[in-house]
Amino acid sequence: SSTEYVSKEDLGRATWLLLHSIASQYPDEPTEREKRDAKNLINAMATLYPCKECQTHFKTVIERNPPEVDSSVSFQEWMCKVHNAVNEKLGKELFDCAKIDERWGGVECFGEDGNDGGCSFENAPGKRKR
Ligand code: FAD
Repeated sequence: SSTEYVSKEDLGRATWLLLHSIASQYPDEPTEREKRDAKNLINAMATLYPCKECQTHFKTVIERNPPEVDSSVSFQEWMCKVHNAVNEKLGKELFDCAKIDERWGGVECFGEDGNDGGCSFENAPGKRKR
């Protein structure tokens, strides 16, 4: 048998991919249920994310920046802001949130009609959310 090691960095990249994808796919006019689910997802990061140091820091980040889940744009911008708070803590360059759509917009996730269930991040014309 062998042990697979997943670094804090790989775990982080996988998680940001998930979180920005979710924000990008989030509805423009979310239902109360969707808003509650989005808040619960974020709050759970502060108690369940499998890196203690990250949990502790992220808890203070979301206390200062409560999740903004009223629309797709607000959730995407909020995600950019809190990701930058983590970047800042780690001494990384801050991401220009005006480029959020360039980086994460146009995501399309499938799973029906015979394709493989993956997501496309191509920012195809006409698929932009704003
Ligand atoms: P990442 O920060 O993983 O980003 C992935 C890609 O997202 C980047 O290449 C860039 O294209 C894009 N991006 C970068 N910033 C933004 C932004 N603001 N908005 C939109 N897109 C952006 N690591 C620690 O060592 N200590 C911690 O306390 C810690 N806390 C974390 C808390 C959470 C909730 C998460 C999800 C991760 C945390 N990490 C932490 C991991 C850390 O954030 C990085 O994921 C990891 O260091 C790898 O960084 P990276 O430079 O490859 O890019």
